[in-house]
Amino acid sequence: MITGKNYIGNNQSAKGNKTYKTFNPKLNLENASVFTEATTGEINETVNLASKTFKEFQNIPGIKKAEFLNAIADEILALDDELIQVYCSETGLPEGRAKGERGRTVGQLRTFADLVIEGSWVEATIDTAIPDRQPMPKSDVRKMMVPLGPVVVFGASNFPLAYSTAGGDTAAALAAGCPVIVKSHPMHAGTGELVSSAIIKAAQRTNMPNGVFSNLNSSGIEVGVQLVEHPGVKAVGFTGSIRGGRALFDLASKREEPIPVFAEMGSINPVIILPNALKERGMQLASTYAKSITLGTGQFCTNPGLLLGIKGEELTSFLNELSGEIVKIEPSCMLHPNIIGAYESNKDRAVSQSGLTITADYDSDVQTNFARQTITTVEGKTFLENPTLHQEVFGPFSMVVQCEDAKQMETIISRLEGQLTGTVISEEGEASHYSDVIAALQNRVGRVIFNGVPTGVEVCPSMLHGGPYPASTDSRFTAVGIHSIKRWVRPLSFQDWPNEILPNELKDENPLEISRLINNENTSRKI
Ligand code: NAP
Repeated sequence: MITGKNYIGNNQSAKGNKTYKTFNPKLNLENASVFTEATTGEINETVNLASKTFKEFQNIPGIKKAEFLNAIADEILALDDELIQVYCSETGLPEGRAKGERGRTVGQLRTFADLVIEGSWVEATIDTAIPDRQPMPKSDVRKMMVPLGPVVVFGASNFPLAYSTAGGDTAAALAAGCPVIVKSHPMHAGTGELVSSAIIKAAQRTNMPNGVFSNLNSSGIEVGVQLVEHPGVKAVGFTGSIRGGRALFDLASKREEPIPVFAEMGSINPVIILPNALKERGMQLASTYAKSITLGTGQFCTNPGLLLGIKGEELTSFLNELSGEIVKIEPSCMLHPNIIGAYESNKDRAVSQSGLTITADYDSDVQTNFARQTITTVEGKTFLENPTLHQEVFGPFSMVVQCEDAKQMETIISRLEGQLTGTVISEEGEASHYSDVIAALQNRVGRVIFNGVPTGVEVCPSMLHGGPYPASTDSRFTAVGIHSIKRWVRPLSFQDWPNEILPNELKDENPLEISRLINNENTSRKI
């Protein structure tokens, strides 16, 4: 049952007087539950509890953390239809999508459970002493990753499960040994509360210290700002807009003790369609891309917002086909009135730029909160000269850039802001003739895709979900997959530390039987 209260560790609390409701965009109606925003007192109480809990939680063995993570997955599944119904009522997304995202969320939790049971993720590195080294003896030095401390997680509105309350950031931070405080997304506060209740049940069932997880409600930016400024918070995970991520990054940098903000933000995901591919399968590509642009009403950070080709008959035919195909697709509902408002105003801003032509705009009546898909086109030179055209229009919108030649395409790519993905569509053997364009693309993005679509992010260790700024605030890390745990840890070296008080990961006898780098050799052996 949804109470509308905050979770301060295991306790529910609603001391504030600012309340709000979520919204059903399909019905164009507010949902019934009333949520109470956290007060400054509740925020302080939450962070203080998390700081206290960190002392215990950071030392909990991997096997116990794994029990907790698996229990969260079980408790989320036990919420069953109630969770799916609330998710759908707060997003307008279909049931199939809700179930798919739940599967991904549960899968991520279990993957991190496996990771911490196996244990080698701490990157234990040991250099044994050489007492008789000349001219100076060498100390025994051992290093491993340790958790940073309480982490604040901000989820995005378009992934209420997989990138929110118990999403990738939370799963990775808990696996690392960091208590988590979620700043609940106001648009899916009910989904957030249900998932929080599952996490709290799992924490109690597996005897985790109180305060390992908290969930704070907020309907504006104040709660998030106070959390990021709180000295007890040691890192921030954010998924959302460039504006939001950058604001939090700047706040965190201005603190007396600056802290890392790992923000995964917007992107226009350039797609390069090479001439032979356009010639051989332009029509098929148009149909594939019409579907990718409108998938989930275009509400994916990997949505293909920019298609680049070399000017000519084939590109014109592709553009006409894409424009024809996209308006055949039935418009669908966006997540909430603010998102559709932002879509309309960002689209207006783009189409009001000189030189941009609309080639498709769904022009029949649509229900309230449903988005009209739009395709536009522009000359390469105009695009190059106007950075406003490089901005994300979050929704079912894409721009086809008609480049003069490969050189102009390379210049355009190299002047784009950092992106999550870049795609190359090529016939066999064709890509090798465009090595400069491809090299430029690799310098601007976190993931390069060959002959596919950028939408869809596989959860696996080799996935990089991030990219040069502003796709993310730190291109060295991924937000998806097991390596995302590295955002919440720091290396700590132990010099000449007695074996009995070393962490188990670094003890001579290797009680956890993990793989370690000993004197430059990867091994699971004892010392
Ligand atoms: P958003 O408006 O930035 O909101 C995300 C969260 O940040 C919300 O909880 C919001 O709180 C908070 N927030 C925003 N600005 C803030 C500020 N100045 N100070 C403190 N808190 C702030 O993003 P969204 O509309 O939910 O999501 C859509 C965006 O996310 C798109 O741009 C999309 O590309 C991006 N996205 C990126 C990824 C990725 O992995 N890279 C994945 C999904 C989505 P309030 O709502 O209370 O303001």
